[in-house]
Amino acid sequence: MSCGLLGLCQYETYKLVRIQSVRLGSLKWTLNATILLFICIIMLWNRNYQEFDLVVSSVTTKVKGVAQTYLPGVGDVVWDGIDYSGPSQDKNSFFVVTNVIVTKNQKQGKCPEVPLKGRLCRSDKDCNKGAWDHQSHGIQTGSCVKFDVLRKTCEVSAWCPIETKTTPPRPALLAAAENFTVLIKNNIKFPAFNFIRRNILPQMNEAYLKSCRRGNDSLCPIFRLGDVVREAGEKFSQMAVEGGVIGILIKWDCNLDQLMHRCLPRYSFIRLDEKESNKTLYPGLNFRYAKYNTVNGEEERTLYKAFGIRFDVMVFGQAGKFSFIQLIIYIGSTLSYYALTTMFIDWLIGTSCYSSEVGQNYSEKKVDTVRDQEKCILCVAYVDENNLRLVKRSKKRSLQDIKPISVHPRKEDTGHLNAIFCLLQPGFGADRNTLPPLGHKADPNPKPGRPAWCKCGCCAPSSLPQEALCCRRSDGACITSSPLFEQLVLSRSLLEAVLWYRGPLSPLDQVQTAALRHCAYGQYISWRFGFPPADTHPAIPSCCVWRIRKEYPNPDGQYSGFRPVRTPSMQAYSDGEL
Ligand code: ZN
Ligand code: ZN
Repeated sequence: MSCGLLGLCQYETYKLVRIQSVRLGSLKWTLNATILLFICIIMLWNRNYQEFDLVVSSVTTKVKGVAQTYLPGVGDVVWDGIDYSGPSQDKNSFFVVTNVIVTKNQKQGKCPEVPLKGRLCRSDKDCNKGAWDHQSHGIQTGSCVKFDVLRKTCEVSAWCPIETKTTPPRPALLAAAENFTVLIKNNIKFPAFNFIRRNILPQMNEAYLKSCRRGNDSLCPIFRLGDVVREAGEKFSQMAVEGGVIGILIKWDCNLDQLMHRCLPRYSFIRLDEKESNKTLYPGLNFRYAKYNTVNGEEERTLYKAFGIRFDVMVFGQAGKFSFIQLIIYIGSTLSYYALTTMFIDWLIGTSCYSSEVGQNYSEKKVDTVRDQEKCILCVAYVDENNLRLVKRSKKRSLQDIKPISVHPRKEDTGHLNAIFCLLQPGFGADRNTLPPLGHKADPNPKPGRPAWCKCGCCAPSSLPQEALCCRRSDGACITSSPLFEQLVLSRSLLEAVLWYRGPLSPLDQVQTAALRHCAYGQYISWRFGFPPADTHPAIPSCCVWRIRKEYPNPDGQYSGFRPVRTPSMQAYSDGEL
C-alpha cells in the first residue's frame, strides 16, 4: 500500500550527459537550424497552419457560333447553337456536333438489309422470317432481294431506306466548330468559411467579356473550342471526325487569410477518352437522333448519326484559413524531427568517424550497465595476469575452471594505494621489522591434500565450487608468499589503522579478531582488484582466505564461507560478509 502511494508521489526524469565540445555544439545548432528552416519552408509551402475546406460548385455553359456547311444529299446548311449542341445536355458538360451522317426521308416499309459483314443471301432459303439480331436494322421478311447489281441481301421490315454509310466523312463536315466559343459560368462555395465566389469576377464587365481572349488572359471565362482542344494536346480537325471527350478542369486553390488573400480559378484541359482511334474497337463519340415530320399524311423521319466532342467541366479545389489549432498540431508533429540531431550526433560519436576517445568517454558516462542480480557474476584476479576476469557462477564446476564471459582491465584504486603508502611509512606501527625474506619460493613438493585446480600449492580443498579458486592461472609461487601480502593484508597494525580510520572513537584494544579478518579480506580486494566492475563480486582465492583465517582465526573454527551478496559494495566486503 505504502509502495503504491509512494509511486504516486514520484516523478522520474531523464539523466542527461553534457559533452563540452565546440565542434559537437556547433554541429548540434547547425542541424537544429537546418531542421527548423526545413519545417518553416514546408509549413509555408503546404500552408500547414491553415484549416481547409473543399469546394462545392455549380456549372452552366453557353456555346455560341454559326457555321455554314455542305451536307451530302441535303445541300448547304447553316448550323447554329441549337443544331450543333445536340438534343441533350448533361449537368456539367456540353456537346458540340462536329461530323454527321444524314439519312433523309425514312419511312416504315420493306427494303434490303445493308450487306454488312457477309450478310449476303443467294435465295429465300437463306432468310428466316421474323429473325433479327443486335446488328439488324429491321425484322427479316423471309425473302432474298437485290441490294445492288452484284449483291443480294435479306429483305427487312424497317425504316427505309436504311442508313448505309458506316464510317464518318473525312474531313469532318462541321470542322468549323473550332471557332465556336463557350461561356462557362461557375459558382463556388466553401461552406466552412461561408465564402462564395464566381469565375466571372466582379471587375469583369460586358465590354471585357466581349473582348477577352484566353491567349492573353488566363482568367477569361470564354473559351474558343479550338483553343481548348489544342491545350489538351489534340488537333481539332482530327478529333472532329470521330468525336471524343475533353475535360475542362477548373481548380480553385484559395487562401482566405487577409494578408495573402487570393482566390482565382485556374483552367486546364485534358483529353479523357482513348486517343488512338485506330487501335480502339469503338472509337470516338457518336449517337443517333431523328427529326420527324409528316408528308401527305405519312410519317417520315430524317436520321442523324452525330459525331462530336463532349466537354466535361470538372471543378475541384480547396480553401485554407489560418487556424491556431492546426498550427499547434503542426508544430507538435514536427517536434520529433529534432530527435534526428540527437540520433545523428550519437551515431557520429559511436562510429570511429569522430574521436574514439570521446566515444569511449561518452558511452561510459551515458550507459550504466545493470545486470540481473539473479545471475551472479564473479570477478576473478590472478597474480600472473593483469586483467580481471568476469565469470558466471556455476554450481558444478570449480571457479578456477569456468571460462570467463569477459575480460576487463584492472582499474587501480589510487586513493587506497596512497593511504597504504602513508601507513607503511617507517615509524608507523610496531611490526615494521618483521618483513619476511624476499623471493620466498613456493613449496616445490605440493602438499598431499592439494586439490587438482590449485596451481600455487597453498589452497585447501573445498566442497563448494565457488570457493575452488587459486591465486594463479599457471604453476608458480603463491601470492601469500609475497612480502607485500604480509604488509598489505595481514599486518595487524595496518588493519587496526584501517578500522580506526573507519571508527575513530572505537577503542583499539577491543578490536575483535573477526573484524580484523574481514578487514584483511577488504584489503586484499582493494589491492588485487582496485575498483572491480560494477555489479560483480570479487572472489578471493582459497590460499589467501586460509592464510588470513590462519592469522585471524575464529576460535570455534567455523567460517561462513563465500556468499556473493545481493547488493554488492566495497562496504559489504569489508563489513564481514566473508
Ligand atoms: Zn592455489
Ligand atoms: Zn596461492
